[in-house]
Amino acid sequence: MVALSDFERGMLKQKVGVPTGRFAINPLTGEEVPIWIGNFVIAAYGTGAVMAVPGHDQRDFDFAKNYDIPIRQVLVEKADDEVGEMASAYEGYGPMVASPLPGFDGKSGEEANRAVIESLEEIGMGEGTVQWKIRDWLISRQRYWGTPIPIIHCPECGIVPVPQSQLPVLLPDDVVFTGHGNPLESSDPFCNVDCPTCGSGARRETDTMDTFVDSSWYFLRFSDAMNDDACFDGEVADYWMNVDFYCGGIEHAQMHLIYARFWTKALRDLGLLSHDEPFQTLLCQGMVNKPAPHCKPCGITLHVDLTGKMCPICGAELGIRSAKMSKSLGNTVSPEGLVSEFGADTVRLFILFSAQPEAGMDWSDEGVLAAWRQVSLLHGIPATISEWVGTASSIDGWMKARIRQQVRQWMTAMDNADLRRAVEISHYDLVKDLNWYTRRGGANSEVGLDLLKAWCYMLQTATPHLAEEWWSGLGTGGLNATRVMPKGYGNVEAGDDEILAGEVYLRQFLDSARNTRRMAQRHLGQPPTKAIAQTTVDWKVDLAVSALRFIDDGGDVKQFQKVLIAKPYAQGEQKGEVITFWRKKMLPQVFKWSDEDRALLLGGLDESAILGANSGFICTELELEEFTAWKFGDGEDVGGRGGSAFPLRPSLTFVQK
Ligand SMILES: [Zn+2]
Ligand SMILES: [Zn+2]
Repeated sequence: MVALSDFERGMLKQKVGVPTGRFAINPLTGEEVPIWIGNFVIAAYGTGAVMAVPGHDQRDFDFAKNYDIPIRQVLVEKADDEVGEMASAYEGYGPMVASPLPGFDGKSGEEANRAVIESLEEIGMGEGTVQWKIRDWLISRQRYWGTPIPIIHCPECGIVPVPQSQLPVLLPDDVVFTGHGNPLESSDPFCNVDCPTCGSGARRETDTMDTFVDSSWYFLRFSDAMNDDACFDGEVADYWMNVDFYCGGIEHAQMHLIYARFWTKALRDLGLLSHDEPFQTLLCQGMVNKPAPHCKPCGITLHVDLTGKMCPICGAELGIRSAKMSKSLGNTVSPEGLVSEFGADTVRLFILFSAQPEAGMDWSDEGVLAAWRQVSLLHGIPATISEWVGTASSIDGWMKARIRQQVRQWMTAMDNADLRRAVEISHYDLVKDLNWYTRRGGANSEVGLDLLKAWCYMLQTATPHLAEEWWSGLGTGGLNATRVMPKGYGNVEAGDDEILAGEVYLRQFLDSARNTRRMAQRHLGQPPTKAIAQTTVDWKVDLAVSALRFIDDGGDVKQFQKVLIAKPYAQGEQKGEVITFWRKKMLPQVFKWSDEDRALLLGGLDESAILGANSGFICTELELEEFTAWKFGDGEDVGGRGGSAFPLRPSLTFVQK
């Protein structure tokens, strides 16, 4: 027999058990229920013996499948569902079915619970109780660092509480730490006291309270930390509580959270505050994992020293599996070593960029290197910008609008504890933005300074050393860490949406145009010198926008045709073409557009105007001598493809002049 911790039990892949050959009797039906011993049952839960319900608990289902134990379905999702072979456990609280006793079928949830409890109570076989998750809690410790238990042991009076006027009991300074016993016992002045009741010589309790006692209410003390008369003032605590954000490992969900909530509720019952729950939002950060040898038949993970060897228990060949870093498995990495090799900024960036805080992550040495390269790249950016000698240009407006947009997106990500997205913006996307700005001819040192100042705010949280390095290089004095982002910083300004949409469209156009150009070159047998883009006709754009709005307003897309046939462009001769276009071309597309595309369409972008205004840049990017753009119908249909243009997808024809 092997005792498993709750954590190891959670990791169990294989549920193993043995039948005892004995049976329990169902008190309501008199049926015999086989008794098994299983490795996935928690010994400390209740009596350690649990009623397995294979039809409605996935763990029990897996176990029953393994050992051919009958699986009986007694709950369904909807009242008229068929009862039959189950592919997996149904874990919902739908209505009861197939009960051998009258009065249960059709009842669900609370009502079903009550019905079963009542019928057991009627025959005197049990009664309803409330099951609390908090278990008995032994709070006394034989340690120095804990809150003294305010009790005095008197030979005459017995156990005497320290009077309120003598509280709090302070820990003595004159203790000796020997490594043996409770250090408090070495302080005579602490231990030998007069009994508060009869005055005779008595002895002070030397056990202290578990540190969980303090961590269960420190947040209340923090709300009124200077109060010398009470643990905290109820009104002050009510004002500050509750705690906005609680971040901890999953083990907190079982331990500290339960204690702290219990404590808060107990203090509330004592009338010391009126809040019922101490914490507003919980974020459980995931664990850091690293591969370790794993035995599939035994269902256990082993020490890294056994990598590539045989299982010491069953002799099977060991596989590899990602497991929580632990000393017992030896699959740990030392942050100190990495910090001294790459710097703390790199290690932090790597961890934040690897995964969402909740998700947990797999450690990867290559990932650390990639983060180090990114930090090095970022390190050189202020020097590059300081060499800019350009003057104001038309792309400056875009860079300024983009900085504001990135600040907003970064703050949203931070507010949502979406730290991966936050560093993606601050440490990766802004580099791409900078590259786009210079590619578009931007080199205005004033804009560069604005960018660096905004960027420093965003670099600070993940890579404070880098941010300070940047900041000190700007020569403005002080520490970046002490800068406070002004209220409204990054707020959207008039014209921002339009200017941002234009560049998004241009980037998308160039990405797809490069592919078309490659194909055209193959077809022409030589590089094209000229390209003509024809953007789609107005009615197709209106159709796209109308359909998107219709769906956004909760409309059923099948009903959209009714809206469509009322459109002026869907009348007379054109009606058939418009309806066919909707069914064959637009309907499959409306759900495929990305959020970015939808924003472009709904924002009323003038495609041919944007392409026309940037023809010089497009020529450079596509290595052309000439580029022109117009709306289909406004010029000659070169190549005969203008009619196939789609909203956001102009037709493009490359030619050799
Ligand atoms: Zn006494
Ligand atoms: Zn094994």
